[in-house]
Amino acid sequence: MDLTLTDDQRKFREYARDFLDNEVVAHRAEWDRAEAVDPAIVPKLGEMGFFGLTIPESYGGLGGDYVTYCLGMEELGRADSAVRGIVSVSMGLVGKVILSHGTEEQKRRWLPGIATGEVLACFGLTEPDTGSDAGNLRTRAVRHGDDYVLTGQKMFITNATWADVCLVFARTGGPGPKGVSAFLVPTDTPGFAVREIKGKLGLRGQATGEISLTDVRVPADARLGEEGQGFTIAMHSLDKGRVSVGAGCAGIILGCLESVVAYAGERQQFGRPLASFQLIQDMIADISVELDAARLLVWRAASLIDRGEPFGVAASKAKYYASEAAVRAANSAIQIFGGYGYIDEYPVQKYLRDARVMTLYEGTSQIQKLLIGRAETGVSAFL
Ligand code: FAD
Repeated sequence: MDLTLTDDQRKFREYARDFLDNEVVAHRAEWDRAEAVDPAIVPKLGEMGFFGLTIPESYGGLGGDYVTYCLGMEELGRADSAVRGIVSVSMGLVGKVILSHGTEEQKRRWLPGIATGEVLACFGLTEPDTGSDAGNLRTRAVRHGDDYVLTGQKMFITNATWADVCLVFARTGGPGPKGVSAFLVPTDTPGFAVREIKGKLGLRGQATGEISLTDVRVPADARLGEEGQGFTIAMHSLDKGRVSVGAGCAGIILGCLESVVAYAGERQQFGRPLASFQLIQDMIADISVELDAARLLVWRAASLIDRGEPFGVAASKAKYYASEAAVRAANSAIQIFGGYGYIDEYPVQKYLRDARVMTLYEGTSQIQKLLIGRAETGVSAFL
């Protein structure tokens, strides 16, 4: 495996970092306290190309590779995971499956807007009663002539209150994953209602919502893929999404490392900088090694995607390891900062709160281990 980054990839990372330091890092504490990212950041991210990175130029994107995308996600994770999620859900989870499973008409309708951030998308899989067991979701889509009518509830949906379109997974057939289909539902369709969920532990600036679908009527051509293909589409989307979450987690670890190195160099106790104590270096060394390990797992999965090879298990490993490592790194970072780590003058407490959800969404750590265990043993312990 080639572990070097190209000049273009390095340049993109520097360009992303400069922009994010000015436009996101400078405001993240204020947005976190207000529980709202400033929506004006979305068009700016669009202008910088974050939304269009891996969408082909023919659909308004930049046609970049997945490794470059992961570098962007790492910088976004270092800056503010609440902002990273806006991009990685809209473009990463929804835009990319429209590209892989959409009709030409669906691609032309949605991708140019998603690629610039003018259109925001959300991904509606989880329901109040079905999370990890998403294949048993209950939202229904019933065919009426040339339309489908959707009824049900979606829970914890990122971008829900900001989105223009929601990729809704709903049951068109019998029980289990094979009865699920996917629909691109404009959020202004009558019967589509959103309630914002406030009071989250982390990702406080991100718009997370609960969606109610009451007799939402969409034309049959809003269906993405064939009837019964919805669960496969969702899993395909989440496999790629997990690589992007892993990259965001590497960014959290990077942010922790930079913060603790700077702080431990300045803060004096017992007449010496914290950095000179071996027990402090022990924690810093662990953060540094976990950053390398997380990055390497993410880059391996991303390079498999770029080469068109199977990457699902590599994605689970990257997401599982990087998310758990991000929690460990942020926890150690708070320890190194002492009491100052516990207040929001410094970013490390936010890194911990934001990292915590990464072990839950897009498949919990337990679900990632079951996927890895199934690949190793050939036995499914959960389906
Ligand atoms: P449950 O599935 O009820 O799991 C509870 C616990 O049981 C977990 O520890 C889990 O690992 C464990 N468990 C479950 N099954 C097994 C098993 N077979 N073996 C061992 N342990 C098991 N969803 C979307 O569709 N779109 C989004 O945009 C989105 N954004 C989110 C944003 C946030 C901030 C949050 C918190 C969630 C978001 N989610 C989203 C939902 C997220 O994907 C789910 O929360 C997650 O899949 C877990 O589902 P659950 O919360 O229902 O937990």
